[in-house]
Amino acid sequence: MSLIVQKYGGTSVGNPERIRNVAERIAEWRRRGDRVVVVVSAMSGVTDSLIKLAREVCAEPAEREMDMLLATGEQTTISLLAMALHAIGIPAVSLTGAQAGIVTDGRHTKAKIANLTPNQVKRHLADGAVVIVAGFQGQTMEGQITTLGRGGSDLTAIAIAAAVQAEVCQIYTDVDGVYTADPRVVPNATKIQEIAYDEMLELASAGAKVMQARAVEFAKKFNVRFEVRSSFNNNPGTIVKAETKSMEQVVVRGVSVEKNQAKVTISGVPDRPGIAAKLFQTIAEAGVNVDMIVQNVSQSGEADITFTLHRDDVKKANNITASISELSRARAVTVQEGIAKLSVVGIGMRSHSGVASSLFVALSEQGINIQMISTSEIKITVVIDEARSAEAERAVHDKFGLNVAR
Ligand code: ADP
Ligand code: ASP
Ligand code: MG
Repeated sequence: MSLIVQKYGGTSVGNPERIRNVAERIAEWRRRGDRVVVVVSAMSGVTDSLIKLAREVCAEPAEREMDMLLATGEQTTISLLAMALHAIGIPAVSLTGAQAGIVTDGRHTKAKIANLTPNQVKRHLADGAVVIVAGFQGQTMEGQITTLGRGGSDLTAIAIAAAVQAEVCQIYTDVDGVYTADPRVVPNATKIQEIAYDEMLELASAGAKVMQARAVEFAKKFNVRFEVRSSFNNNPGTIVKAETKSMEQVVVRGVSVEKNQAKVTISGVPDRPGIAAKLFQTIAEAGVNVDMIVQNVSQSGEADITFTLHRDDVKKANNITASISELSRARAVTVQEGIAKLSVVGIGMRSHSGVASSLFVALSEQGINIQMISTSEIKITVVIDEARSAEAERAVHDKFGLNVAR
């Protein structure tokens, strides 16, 4: 008999039949005597359609209203799942994020969990009910509804598992686990049996959508071991847990690609102290989120600075090119879309060399140009042409032998 937290993603509750199927799966765990808390996402496509709807009535919807709107997606699925459980004779109660005791800060659309006191969850569990919590949402101290960023139901599940000290935390999705690359792009990707928090975190923040990066960060902080597995079969999934010595033997654990990126190049900037500080202050004030930054210094005391950003921030970047130019006395500022970031990740990189060169060889064999490079202890990222990113992902994946299951 265990206390289990399960999270079902959008595809897993994507239509009435799938909701009934999830109810059956929950019933099976209960028959074993387990107590179950379930976190659900909105039905697949619902959050995207709500965002689209909002843009149809207002070009720049207020973030508070966005949260009010988006929270309805998860509210639909919690009640439907509770009904589906009732229909097969299982007592179940649905709770919004606020009712489950999730208190967040006030940063609408990307709120952080400030604290979690799951009194109602515990009470209903004690009464013998399955407790179904709306993922992705919380409430500020002042009672405003907030959401936790895209993919945020993962975070709800991990946070609840930590708060109720669940023995097991299962993230059910539409793939069998975490793969060495996105299986939709790389058909011969293989399932990873165990992965360290830091590797999962780097893969997720580099574009692997299977887990929300903030959820993994939270799991690492509170040492919540969890399993990513499929809601459509009973195959064992991927265990995400604290690092062990033997994990270092694998040099590259996986490959991720993040599309929809753009880059800004500021050419001919005087190479003097203080310029970058001023420049990036202006860029931050315009609300542009900067990622990779590279500076090349020329002989004549001038530098070219290039940085990447998400395509959604391109408009903001375009609005400030004139002020960037003036401020930095640059010769030109150009904004280019259509690029992608490709990353290879593995804690084994700390103790093995030659990863960068194999990555560069794999890309050059395909004739793919590398536009920018950045490295960290357990990750190497390159910027390439977005149109060739799938081909690049497959080539890099095979170069590191990730197509061979281990
Ligand atoms: P859910 O709705 O269950 O949260 P998501 O769509 O957010 O599911 O995440 C699952 C998807 O993540 C998969 O369908 C897969 O295409 C994608 N994905 C990207 N990278 C990976 C990876 N390395 N391993 C597994 N899935 C991945
Ligand atoms: N429904 C939200 C989203 O689509 C949260 C989630 O699915 O985890 O981003
Ligand atoms: Mg998800």
